[in-house]
Amino acid sequence: MKKILVIGSGFAGLWGALGAARVLENEGKSGEVEISLISPEPVLHMRPRLHEHEPEIMATPIAEHLAAAGVRYIQGSVVSIDRRDHSVEAVSPSGERFKLGYDRLLLTTGSKMHRPPVPGIHEHAFSVDQYDEAVELDQHLAALAAQPQSAARDTVVVVGGGFTGIEVAAELPARLRAALGADKAYRVVLIERAEQIGPELGPGPRPVIEEAMYRLNVECLLGTSVVSLDENGVTTADGGRVEARTVIWTGGMRASALTEQVSELRDLSGRLHVTPDLRVPSAPGIFAAGDVALAATDDQGNHAMMACQHAINMGRHAGHNIAADLLGLETVAYRQPFYVTCLDLGGWGAVYTEGWERSIKMIGAKAKALKTQINTEWIYPPVPERAALLDAADWRNTVVA
Ligand SMILES: Cc1cc2nc3c(=O)[nH]c(=O)nc-3n(C[C@H](O)[C@H](O)[C@H](O)COP(=O)(O)OP(=O)(O)OC[C@H]3O[C@@H](n4cnc5c(N)ncnc54)[C@H](O)[C@@H]3O)c2cc1C
Repeated sequence: MKKILVIGSGFAGLWGALGAARVLENEGKSGEVEISLISPEPVLHMRPRLHEHEPEIMATPIAEHLAAAGVRYIQGSVVSIDRRDHSVEAVSPSGERFKLGYDRLLLTTGSKMHRPPVPGIHEHAFSVDQYDEAVELDQHLAALAAQPQSAARDTVVVVGGGFTGIEVAAELPARLRAALGADKAYRVVLIERAEQIGPELGPGPRPVIEEAMYRLNVECLLGTSVVSLDENGVTTADGGRVEARTVIWTGGMRASALTEQVSELRDLSGRLHVTPDLRVPSAPGIFAAGDVALAATDDQGNHAMMACQHAINMGRHAGHNIAADLLGLETVAYRQPFYVTCLDLGGWGAVYTEGWERSIKMIGAKAKALKTQINTEWIYPPVPERAALLDAADWRNTVVA
């Protein structure tokens, strides 16, 4: 039996496996090709929500979804890819090594935050990048009230004023009020190396972000960077010091290191160059989607971001293509010219923009309602019923997140 192997159960991996299953169903070949998906746990971590409180509920079980679609789930982490042998080596949760062969491989192992070589970063910086890290931060915040009161205890530093840094900082006032008591004083300090907040978001949404930070009482230290961390705070490049028991590092995403075993053609974030139908040109039989893939979204020179809105749609296209390619059918080109940004601004609301120049279309409570709908409905898979799943996996469905 021919084998399709998907590595990763994030947004791109789940939708990739379902997209492939849809093609087999439509072609009446479900019994002739085996689709397997391997990942450390049969869950979809809702990474876009990890800056929120209660991150422990941000892991959606997907075993039933995969089973309903006829996808075999394998628990493990892939450690190597043998392109010539068309196989991968993986490690099970109990540490046993095993090999899996494939006829077509879909790599969707996502990204991780890069920790630069700043003294103290590994010992003292929290993060909301991965599920476990977000849970650890949440537990730390919940335990703050039990520590003796001090300025450091009541201060949180967020390093990085990009998309994630802004979302985390905006959420912290409410989280600190919940942790320390509604009437207690606290400080949230955001430190950004650039002279402006949200440097990569451009000037469009900036006035709204600045207004929200001001209203939320988030102090922004711009034009300086953190040069060291210790258990009581951070030191900045301009010689400044902020006493804080909680430092959250954000920014600097790097594609999964498995990309290095697939091709040398990668961008500075480690993402694989892919063709319009999401195959890796120099690696026969291998496709890539989500944060590991540098895919063009249109003919104007725009490329997918490391974002859920692109990972879901790329996953559906790559899943379709990997099965179509195996069956000798035409593949489809991934295209997603409509780009939006919906930035959560905590208790202040949100800002929603359209286009790559990020023109503001909605702000405040209205934009927050949209963000809530995206984060609680649109990015979740449907009920684990075969017909609903395969229908939703159609590459023509576009998710805007
Ligand atoms: C705090 C935060 C806020 C965000 N907000 C937004 C937002 O508002 N909008 C938006 O569009 N995007 C947002 N993102 C980005 C978005 O979450 C990612 O772009 C998206 O998760 C990428 O999907 P993916 O499937 O490529 O990878 P991931 O979701 O990272 O999934 C990767 C999968 O691969 C598995 N895996 C990794 N290594 C291996 C291995 N060796 N073997 C087997 N399996 C492996 C992982 O366990 C996981 O299942 C946010 C991210 C964060 C952290």
